[in-house]
Amino acid sequence: MKLDRTDGIIIALDGPAGSGKSSTARAVAERLGYRHLDSGAFYRALTWAALRANIPPERWPELTPDELDRLDVHGAPEGRAYRLTVGGWDVSEAIRTPEVNAHVSRMAAVPAVREWLMDALREAGARGGLVADGRDIGTVVFPEAELKAYLVCEPEERARRRLREQGAGVSEDEVRAEAARLQGRDQIDSGRAVAPLAEAADAVRIDTTRLDFEAQVEAVVKLARERAGG
Ligand code: C5P
Repeated sequence: MKLDRTDGIIIALDGPAGSGKSSTARAVAERLGYRHLDSGAFYRALTWAALRANIPPERWPELTPDELDRLDVHGAPEGRAYRLTVGGWDVSEAIRTPEVNAHVSRMAAVPAVREWLMDALREAGARGGLVADGRDIGTVVFPEAELKAYLVCEPEERARRRLREQGAGVSEDEVRAEAARLQGRDQIDSGRAVAPLAEAADAVRIDTTRLDFEAQVEAVVKLARERAGG
């Protein structure tokens, strides 16, 4: 697919689980008048749909494009974002459960699944004006993105933010357990053969451990304005 830039540049935000990519991407898109593509939501929706269809995770590596079509997962532009549906039902909340968290990396490691999603993800950037976040946005989905940022953050701080976001307790035990879950997901995501979590050679690395939210949004917006030429 040929990409033009009628609507602005493409900004790719990658990084490990819980590094603040999605919330940062949403705020950056808002600030620049761009759209936000949360690519993880697509892998989550497929995971949710497969679990609901009682397809056991052991079978996921053999899923065919036809079977993936039948899961009826769609992402339609709505406002500045994409609304994920399965069988016509909005699954925006259903895909954020611990069950989906625990299984999604397994779905995302299946090469046929990644290939199946590629066109839909690239289509979102066809005219530019997009902030896309994920694991392989700057390396595989939009290697031609004008701005690539790689967000990192210490695991305990990521865990604390995640727990606070969920309104859960933040005792040291809970922080340790959540940090272990996030790192478990990172390990699968960076160890897989196809499109692993990786920092693009030309990415700008932003460590958010000691940055507040506003500062991390501002850092990306500033770089974006420079790259967009004003
Ligand atoms: O970003 P989020 O945590 O919602 O992503 C959920 C999962 O989807 C990740 O742990 C990863 O396995 C997968 N993912 C991916 N490639 C992307 C985005 C997400 O493999 N570009």
